[in-house]
Amino acid sequence: MSAFGMHNKMGFVIAAFCPLVIAPPISFKVFQQSERLRITLIHLGEVMQRLEETNARLLEKASRDSMTGLLNREAFFTHVDKMRMQVPGSLLIIDADHFKKINDQHGHYNGDGALTAIAHCISRTVSENDSIGRIGGEEFAVFLASDRENEVRAVAETIRAEVARLDFRTPENERVPLSVSIGGVIDLSEETIADHFQTADRRLYEAKRNGRNCVIIKPVMKSAA
Ligand code: GH3
Ligand code: MG
Ligand code: MG
Repeated sequence: MSAFGMHNKMGFVIAAFCPLVIAPPISFKVFQQSERLRITLIHLGEVMQRLEETNARLLEKASRDSMTGLLNREAFFTHVDKMRMQVPGSLLIIDADHFKKINDQHGHYNGDGALTAIAHCISRTVSENDSIGRIGGEEFAVFLASDRENEVRAVAETIRAEVARLDFRTPENERVPLSVSIGGVIDLSEETIADHFQTADRRLYEAKRNGRNCVIIKPVMKSAA
């Protein structure tokens, strides 16, 4: 107003009323925009949360074997490598006996059913602090959160006995005898997980040579022999 030399009444009226006329619609517009922004941010937060949940579900699914629901090989060994640093632990490798013959005699479909039955049987036998993986076709592994020899042997022996007791039948009601051989290592605190796996695997094949349906576990000190 000063620039235009409007020091009169008109200048005062314009200076006083223009803001009064312009401010409400502009304030309303600004409020409307900030409200839209707020709602958009809430939606964005919800979308991010759903994305995080979907990612977690995908990650969980990717770490599971689709047939048995157990951890897959990679997820199992990653998990064991982490767990053995936190708690005392032992490793069991469990292999279904003569499974090729089971498939040949009863078909692949029943073979799948038998593997699922073995997986459920192992799951029922171990505690919730332990972890189970399907690390190969008819091969499973268990991380037992204990390095007490008696405890580990007892669990392995229970798994072996419970699988042998399974009354698995085909849809034609034909019983399919099942058994597993187990090799195990007690105390995973030293060496690498690959070393322990190799040792357990050697013992598993010793169990196979011993006639199958048996458990071979030795404490870690004796494994060098
Ligand atoms: P062993 O007692 O020495 O372990 O004998 P095996 O016959 O179990 O061992 P082998 O390694 O000769 O054969 C494994 C069999 O397991 C062959 C394969 O078809 C079967 N197998 C592996 N994965 C699956 C699966 O997902 N479903 C079915 N039905 N069979 C499977
Ligand atoms: Mg086998
Ligand atoms: Mg095998």
